[in-house]
Amino acid sequence: MQAENVYADVILPLSVEGLYTYEIPEEYIDSVAIGKRVIVQFGKQKIYSALVRKLHSIKPDHYKPKEILEVLDSEPMVTEMQFRLWDWVCDYYMCNLGDVMNAALPPALKLQSETLLIRNEDKDDEGIEDLNEKEYKILSSLSVDSGLTINSIAAILGQKSVMHLIKNLIEKGWVILHEEIKDKYKPRLKSYISLHQDVDESKLKLVLDELERRAPKQFELMMLFLKHFYSASGKANGNISKDILKSEKEFSDAAFRTLIQKSILAEESVEVSRLNDADKNEIKLKTLNPAQQQSYDEIRASWKVSGVSLLFGVTSSGKTEVYTHLIQDVIDRGEQVLYLLPEIALTNQLIDRLNKVFGGRVGVYHSGLNSAVRYEVWQKSGNPDPAESYDLILGARSSLFLPFRKLGLIIVDEEHDSSFKQHDPSPRYHARDSAIMLAHMLGAKTLLGSATPSLESWHNAKEGKYGFIKLSERYGGVKMPLIEVVNIREETRKKLLSGLFSSYLKEKITETLKNGEQIILFQNRRGFSNMLECRSCGWVPQCKHCDVSLTYHKQSNNLKCHYCGSVYNVFQTCSACGSTDLKVKGFGTEKVEEEISAAFPAIKVSRMDHDTTRSKKSLSKILEDFAENRVNILVGTQMVTKGLDFDNVNIVGILNADNMINFPDFRSHERAFQLMAQVSGRAGRRAKQGRVIIQTGDPNHHVIRKVVEHDYESFYEQELNERMTFRYPPFYRLIRISLKHKKEHTASLGANKFVSYLRHYLGNERVLGPEIPMVPRVKNYYIRNVLIKAEKEHSFAKVKEIIGIVQQMFKSDPELRPVQIHIDVDPV
Ligand code: ADP
Ligand code: ZN
Ligand code: ZN
Repeated sequence: MQAENVYADVILPLSVEGLYTYEIPEEYIDSVAIGKRVIVQFGKQKIYSALVRKLHSIKPDHYKPKEILEVLDSEPMVTEMQFRLWDWVCDYYMCNLGDVMNAALPPALKLQSETLLIRNEDKDDEGIEDLNEKEYKILSSLSVDSGLTINSIAAILGQKSVMHLIKNLIEKGWVILHEEIKDKYKPRLKSYISLHQDVDESKLKLVLDELERRAPKQFELMMLFLKHFYSASGKANGNISKDILKSEKEFSDAAFRTLIQKSILAEESVEVSRLNDADKNEIKLKTLNPAQQQSYDEIRASWKVSGVSLLFGVTSSGKTEVYTHLIQDVIDRGEQVLYLLPEIALTNQLIDRLNKVFGGRVGVYHSGLNSAVRYEVWQKSGNPDPAESYDLILGARSSLFLPFRKLGLIIVDEEHDSSFKQHDPSPRYHARDSAIMLAHMLGAKTLLGSATPSLESWHNAKEGKYGFIKLSERYGGVKMPLIEVVNIREETRKKLLSGLFSSYLKEKITETLKNGEQIILFQNRRGFSNMLECRSCGWVPQCKHCDVSLTYHKQSNNLKCHYCGSVYNVFQTCSACGSTDLKVKGFGTEKVEEEISAAFPAIKVSRMDHDTTRSKKSLSKILEDFAENRVNILVGTQMVTKGLDFDNVNIVGILNADNMINFPDFRSHERAFQLMAQVSGRAGRRAKQGRVIIQTGDPNHHVIRKVVEHDYESFYEQELNERMTFRYPPFYRLIRISLKHKKEHTASLGANKFVSYLRHYLGNERVLGPEIPMVPRVKNYYIRNVLIKAEKEHSFAKVKEIIGIVQQMFKSDPELRPVQIHIDVDPV
């Protein structure tokens, strides 16, 4: 007879090692299952929802396990398939399963005693009568702005187990988690115009006569509306999209408003994500041009050979259109597509484009959405009923962990982008590489796409590991932009430089503005200046918590630490010598904005960087204003390089190429090349050839030469040679280990010990460091870095095993135990 499973090993949503064993009380024996959430106590008083990973009957030797308090789910929340990905991430990136759980589950599924809940103000009272007495009591004690913890709710109800009640309220959308309120989800609305219900045919006639005589503009708008309203056969069409009306002729919102106030027209707003099927075909798939068609065919053919393909398509070649056709194929087979994007905040344009083609079958998933929405997307993407689930999911890296109904394809757009890698906290996973693994596990295909592929993917493609497809002409026969270089050193010598701008750049800006065209100015640093410096003694103000100089922000008139976010008042005098002669050094986007506004006082300038786009609203406003030509010059950090598609940009200025190229990191050339090529790609995307002006002190630097010549291939070949010579990826694998402690001495001691242990097992060659990083202290922790370089043939698993052994040695040494160890596999 088989022994009954009376123990459950669970994953706790904490950065702790391994699984924890709990005893299953008699009453839950039948309901506990792998993948379900259970409520357990961990630590003194804390209650968590943990995930069951294993069931067994082996009594632990050394302790008596606690009992499971509640079983939360009636069906498993996480499938065996999802767990396989979790296990891989955990293994490959050397982290704890709890870290993966935290990254993978939407917040609504991670309840614990401290979770702060509020009432969801977006939900109206419909269905409130169906709540039971206790649920109702909870709901009435919650408000929309100040939260209650689960612990205090338990106290209010006078009972210990309340998780299941809260779970129900969350699932029905009554309650959301508090942390999201700072970034509230607002659905995008689309306006529809219809005839007011009181307007019948005879009234319409009267109205039109009246308008024709008195209000010709409104009459014109009515005629356009009626043209769409009545189809050829004379049958009424119902609602007409306001955008469509506006696209035919530029009517002001006021014209619509007046007709609506007069009860002639009516307006209704519909959430874009809930568009019905009628809208779905509003805009059909575009026909591919021959080059795109060929890429499409080649991609499909390559998938027969390798599961992964790389589409190397120059900017504005229409990669998105090729994706769209491939997505349609997968959907036609009844399967799903996951479309991964590096930064969802920047891609409203893309979401709109795909929504137009695939209508309400698109789900969007990222951390900017509130818990109710994320929970809904989680539920729907895994729903086995195709009618109730999504066809296409657009998401940031965490969407890899969604439960999928049947995934057929993962597209990794802008695959070179380093924000696919999570830096902190653990798991430090790369979404592109994990996507390839996930697709492999599911038997799905992967398409990587970029105008500037990563060296890793390029190499894999050239080696034949991935399919390689080239799309090298821009759509519509538009030429690649003309790239020109201005020697900033020479300009300075000849005194031609006025502030940040060379005379040539200024001249071209003037010309472009005269033609009514737009300009993008790119500077890879935010703030006004890099630092403040004392002219007498060279003192530079630094952050108290980090060893890094502070950045001056003029608009907010303060100094900010870009590492920990601390804010300081501006120093009027030098703290070292008392001199009042402080000057600013270096420049950021704020200064660019100020100088360009001063040089062209009559025109509109706007700035897009981390400081101006804190809220999503301000970001979309900046993009909209620029798209609709209300702004002439857009100044920005690398945010402006990513995937934007504007019609009217003629000039792109790169103000300082040198700080990118000279950044001390082995990837700085690759990065600089990618950034320059990407931002160049924003110029002249329609009829006319665009122009890019790069300001540099080193015009003959090979990175700049290759950007100018659009010579990707030879840039990549040269860069690969250097990587080989200096033993870097893609030829060697890297693991970076950071050791941190509040005392410098301890951090340094730990790092030295770590290195000597590692060298003992791995040899001197493979272990570099310890090194004091460029910013040696962050948030009061001193940091030392160790780098491991392993040949690809040398078993990577073996190297990791040894790191694990050294970690254990640290744990058993009282002096070293407090040293924090961060492991970053394949750092970017
Ligand atoms: P990429 O992603 O390669 O930079 P996009 O997909 O954004 O290029 O295409 C650039 C522009 O050309 C877009 O505005 C797109 O709508 C247009 N375009 C590309 N291919 C087609 C096509 N086959 N038919 C119509 N328009 C297209
Ligand atoms: Zn001084
Ligand atoms: Zn700091």
